[in-house]
Amino acid sequence: MARRAAEYRAAGRRIIDLTLGEPDFAPPAHAVLAAQEAAARPLGYAPANGIPELRQAARHALERDRALSYTDAEVAVGCGAKQVIFNALFATLGPGDEVIIPAPYWASYPDMVRLCGAVPVIVPCSAESGFRITPDTLEAAMTERTRWVLLNAPGNPSGATYSHDSLTGLAEVLRRHPSAMILSDEIYAHIRYGEGEYISIAQVAPDLHERILLVDGVSKAYAMTGWRVGWGVGPAELVRRITAVQTQNCTQTATVSQIAAVAALEGPQELLAQRCATYRQRRDAALAILQQSRHLDTLEPDGAFYLLPRLAKGDDLTAANSLLEAGCATVPGSAFGAPGHLRLSFATDIASLEEGCRIIVATLDGIPA
Ligand code: PMP
Repeated sequence: MARRAAEYRAAGRRIIDLTLGEPDFAPPAHAVLAAQEAAARPLGYAPANGIPELRQAARHALERDRALSYTDAEVAVGCGAKQVIFNALFATLGPGDEVIIPAPYWASYPDMVRLCGAVPVIVPCSAESGFRITPDTLEAAMTERTRWVLLNAPGNPSGATYSHDSLTGLAEVLRRHPSAMILSDEIYAHIRYGEGEYISIAQVAPDLHERILLVDGVSKAYAMTGWRVGWGVGPAELVRRITAVQTQNCTQTATVSQIAAVAALEGPQELLAQRCATYRQRRDAALAILQQSRHLDTLEPDGAFYLLPRLAKGDDLTAANSLLEAGCATVPGSAFGAPGHLRLSFATDIASLEEGCRIIVATLDGIPA
């Protein structure tokens, strides 16, 4: 849809693009400065699991923000959270192994699992459950072949987060299935609208330390998607295996990017709250328009920067196509295991966002924009 939106634009049509999952902010100035300084020095190969300064900065951030402590040997840095997740799956999965993926899900998870020769087990989570997996549905999906359970909160595309109690319930199920690992993708942890601190399954279930890989990175929080820096923290043996995969594919993520990531993690953090406030304004502005539609039911997301309205009728691909023709690009929910929904990103300026939402409502409700 993003590509088609770009083609329409190139052909001279005005298209509001609400497809993209990346912040529209600049990276922190101190991160850019650190990269500029580093780029002027000779930079050779660095360790495959990341420069020591970044492994340390990643664990310090977890200590500071979540009171979680890890050793340097428990941190693996990769080319974005995406590569860390892929490496972890590739290092551990074999044919016939199963990976539980609550739906809606980030579109990459099932394909990554398939690329590793394993089987994605999609567990639908309804809007009524806030798009969250419940202990009962998790229990029903677990088998002796389950190798991983993928959790992602705030979720892409749902924005859903888990409370302490709901994580406690999931942890109880996971304790009964000791051969399954847990991947907690927390890439949107800094983009949240609720009260209180982010809570990770790693905090709720410290006894599962040897089974949890917590994944984060600089892409979303610090608006550094193109810098390609992410990390996973978890048991040293898993980190060693992730690093073995990393060594034989791209060696390491660019040293200059890692140096910028250290600066982002260790520099002033005020911009995180400022940006959250901006995202919240946009979320509320978009919701105010979308909730006027008779054809959409839109939940308020707890985090991330997506809305996932449910269509009252019709399929999502047809709806996304008509919306594109009307001048607003969205992604059909089917791409994320959420048929009958549309995903809109509000990581865009408020004027375009409001215009896009008005086009959506007018088109679906059949009235002129
Ligand atoms: N996890 C989720 C849920 C995402 O939405 C994304 C990016 N779209 C990633 C991971 C990958 O992030 P990175 O840029 O760090 O590879």
